[in-house]
Amino acid sequence: MVIRMRHTRGHSGNRRSHHALKAVSLSTCSHCGAQHRPHHMCLECGYYNGRQVMNLEELKAKRDARIKAKKERIKLDLGDTAPVTGEETAEKIEEKK
Ligand SMILES: [Zn+2]
Repeated sequence: MVIRMRHTRGHSGNRRSHHALKAVSLSTCSHCGAQHRPHHMCLECGYYNGRQVMNLEELKAKRDARIKAKKERIKLDLGDTAPVTGEETAEKIEEKK
C-alpha cells in the first residue's frame, strides 16, 4: 500500500513493526559438521541429504586452473605491450631533446 497522506507516528511504527531482520537459522551438515542453510547443499563438502551432489574440490581445481591460465595470458599480453610502450616513451624523450 502506498502512503500518500500525512500519517501519525503510530502508523509509521505499525508499518515498521514488520521491518525487523530475523536471525539466519542454520543446520549442521551430517557429513562434515559445518553450518549450512537448511534444505540447501552444504557449501563446504557439496553434500545434501546424505549424498554428494556436487564435487566441490573438482570444481575448485577447475576454477583455479582457469584463473591461472587467464593470469598467464594477461602476463603474456602485458609482456608484449610493455616493451612497445617503453620504446614509444623513449622515442618521445628523444624527440623532446
Ligand atoms: Zn558438509
